[in-house]
Amino acid sequence: MRYLVLSDIHANIEALDAVLHAAAGRYDRVLVLGDLVGYGADPDAVVARVRTLPDLHVIRGNHDKAAVGLLAPDTFNDLAREAIAWTRRILSDRSRAWLAGLPAGPMTIDDLVEVCHGTPYDEDEYLAGRREARRSFAEAHRPVCLFGHTHVPAAFALDAELHDARAVVTARRRLVFDDGRAYLANCGAVGQPRDGDARAAYGILDTGTRSLALLRADYDLRQAQSRIIAAGLPDALAHRLAIGR
Ligand code: ZN
Repeated sequence: MRYLVLSDIHANIEALDAVLHAAAGRYDRVLVLGDLVGYGADPDAVVARVRTLPDLHVIRGNHDKAAVGLLAPDTFNDLAREAIAWTRRILSDRSRAWLAGLPAGPMTIDDLVEVCHGTPYDEDEYLAGRREARRSFAEAHRPVCLFGHTHVPAAFALDAELHDARAVVTARRRLVFDDGRAYLANCGAVGQPRDGDARAAYGILDTGTRSLALLRADYDLRQAQSRIIAAGLPDALAHRLAIGR
């Protein structure tokens, strides 16, 4: 089974379509790890596109919750809060109802894989370091737990002791899951990368070869930026796309 792994699309339809084009024919099922909306200018288009994807498994992110009133955006920074207020105003009833019905992670996918937005123990927590990784390993139900939320590709492996494998993964672009070890892996953000690489990030996990490819796709960045500015969203949200921060 080959899974297309998408997280943090953030209403960036140009990035999502570029990823779907690049990955066409290379996957059987689709995993979406939350934050379909927020920041970008096309929340309805992203929701509609995701809903067309085959054999879809999707969980909610914090921006999805905030956009439909399930989470008060008090903890969001000014830019994120402004984008959520805008998203709430323009989101169609149809998209709102669908987003409101999305399940919380973690979600078990098969014998090998589970997915969450932030961590397996708290959907809104950032899995950024060894402390959260240790706790996530303790709470995970499958050998491979895919996560998002930080917008930065990263991976952790649990062995006799915990190793932070972040640098290895970003350099190698491919992670092979050894039998008997557990892993946490983040493929990065489709719609708002924050690792200094402006290209859309995604992954393809193959359960046959027990491997995860960490991939990037070029997309029409200028179009996504113009849409953000034309929508009246903060200019900073357009500018950050170009630097991948
Ligand atoms: Zn996000």
